[in-house]
Amino acid sequence: IAPVHIVGGGLAGSEASWQLAEAGVPVVLHEMRPVQPTEVHKTTDFAELVCSNSFRSDDAETNAVGLLHEEMRRLGSVIMACADRHKVPAGGALAVDRDGFSAAVTARLEGHPLIEIRREHVEALPPEVWDNVIIATGPLTSQPLADVIAGLTGETSLAFFDAIAPIVHRESIDMDVAWFQSRYDKPGPGGTGADYINCPMTREQYEAFLDALIAGDKTSFKEFEGTPYFDGCLPVEVMAERGRETLRFGPMKPVGLTNPRDPQVKSHAIVQLRQDNALGTLYNMVGFQTKLKYAEQVRVFRMIPGLENAEFARLGGLHRNTYLNSPVLLDGTLRLKSLPRLRFAGQITGCEGYIESAGVGLMAGRFAAAERLGRTLLPPPMTTALGALLNHITGGHIVSDEAGPRSFQPMNVNFGLFPPLDVAPKSEDGKRLRGTEKTHAKKRAMSARALQDLEAWNVAITREQTLASA
Ligand code: FAD
Repeated sequence: IAPVHIVGGGLAGSEASWQLAEAGVPVVLHEMRPVQPTEVHKTTDFAELVCSNSFRSDDAETNAVGLLHEEMRRLGSVIMACADRHKVPAGGALAVDRDGFSAAVTARLEGHPLIEIRREHVEALPPEVWDNVIIATGPLTSQPLADVIAGLTGETSLAFFDAIAPIVHRESIDMDVAWFQSRYDKPGPGGTGADYINCPMTREQYEAFLDALIAGDKTSFKEFEGTPYFDGCLPVEVMAERGRETLRFGPMKPVGLTNPRDPQVKSHAIVQLRQDNALGTLYNMVGFQTKLKYAEQVRVFRMIPGLENAEFARLGGLHRNTYLNSPVLLDGTLRLKSLPRLRFAGQITGCEGYIESAGVGLMAGRFAAAERLGRTLLPPPMTTALGALLNHITGGHIVSDEAGPRSFQPMNVNFGLFPPLDVAPKSEDGKRLRGTEKTHAKKRAMSARALQDLEAWNVAITREQTLASA
């Protein structure tokens, strides 16, 4: 069997290599460290954790990332096996001894008879003889390769910075205060004229909000990141600092919108939220990319009428991150539509986080293995954490609308990416649940559904493989 070539031995590339090798497909893993270092990696080990040593919550019952851990364990993930072996006490989180963890992943890959490791910098388009390639070069993809990818995908399809506005769970928005309407009731492509959620502000509320934004604690750019302000991604607090009316003439302009509860009174300013996933469970705050610290974002943005109890699926940020406009560029098995011998995995596909990157690596490895072995592999069901993540990357996202040519932003796994439950969970005595109890029950039901569907998917694949080898 000819090898699959993997470029990048980070979280995604390591997991993809392992999945391929375990499926019986030879792998050549190309990693540029130590020949060419990155700005943040410090060792030559595979799957190095560049910042925190935490894989976040390990609660598979009520937390989407904990569920992702569990799904990956069940699919033989090398990242999860090494993380479990090197875990350190961290309450409900899965945190690891970072050196022990990366050394263990390195040893597993180096020791596998089907994995060949080449320490080399891939600077050009992989040669045609590499007919099945996974590019997993991460948020800090080397510049020469990033230039090659930009050449293949078009400049505007490869981003070099996240300019992320916070994303809110739709069900946590108070619709007794906010309302649906597009500016001037204009339907965007595929829209209805009531596509945005609008949160109104009085003059007093606006002034207090501006003060809080300007005074809020901010993070600074890392030295290697520079200050990447460019049109369309100025942080909201920088706009606020430029003048007290700047936001009212920018993302918070109140024109063309009428509060149905008080049509005679003009709002002084309006915050708009735009649907962020096809399911309609998540909404992003339009124009609210920010460098405020996370706790400050929660405090300040909950001052917005209608968002007092907002739950955030992700908070805003602005930092260096190379990633593709995947919903447009990649097919359902992560291949570049215009050059299908190239497949992408990890953070470069627009997921966010160590374990999400490894999860996408796991899927890419399995897709590449199936292709090499002449089998078809259906994607994991969308009701699973892996399937929900894949759907966010390759299809479930709203790609363009009147507010801008691209709105795809990297995202951690969260329950907002999952399809809603068919039946709302009830209490044991059959009563309707409310508040936190309801939220927890829904998460538990979604997790149980996910593990059940993952099992069915895995059983079907195993059966097909057994038949194929027989
Ligand atoms: P990486 O793990 O970065 O792996 C990519 C690999 O490709 C690297 O080993 C690199 O050397 C190699 N490579 C790059 N270009 C080439 C080339 N041309 N040829 C050959 N090899 C190449 N996520 C979290 O969950 N928690 C955090 O605390 C966290 N902190 C972060 C801090 C920073 C500064 C950054 C940039 C990201 C952080 N992330 C964090 C986000 C993300 O989860 C990690 O970056 C994660 O490592 C991504 O996995 P990956 O496999 O896609 O990329």
